[in-house]
Amino acid sequence: MVKRTIVKIDEEKCTGCGKCVAPCAEGAIQIIDGKAKVVSEELCDGMGYCIGLCPEGALTVEERETEEFDEKKAESQLRKTDISIKCFNCNKGEDEVYLLPLRHKMKSEWVCTRCLPMLIHG
Ligand code: SF4
Ligand SMILES: [Zn+2]
Repeated sequence: MVKRTIVKIDEEKCTGCGKCVAPCAEGAIQIIDGKAKVVSEELCDGMGYCIGLCPEGALTVEERETEEFDEKKAESQLRKTDISIKCFNCNKGEDEVYLLPLRHKMKSEWVCTRCLPMLIHG
């Protein structure tokens, strides 16, 4: 056990929508009984890329005693293209474009790098 940062899921707020599952490159999060769970604490690197993706604000990172991050195990996790993730503007998926998480008016969306300049420049 080590003291480090790791993601924390507020089950009261979590609706089990699953938006945080695929974006976790380490495969640390799964939906179990309708709630997101960190299935293997050693797979969560605590970087918090998932935080902005939760529409409910259920994800945070905290510092606590947990398993050490296992980089080898995390890298060996099965990775697959998630076709449900698409740019909100052009509807292209991660197989075609680079996608970034976006927050606007209490909504979590994905935007591709081609459509992003339009948002920046108005
Ligand atoms: S994105 Fe948020 S509400 Fe949706 S499953 Fe993950 S923690 Fe739950
Ligand atoms: Zn786009």
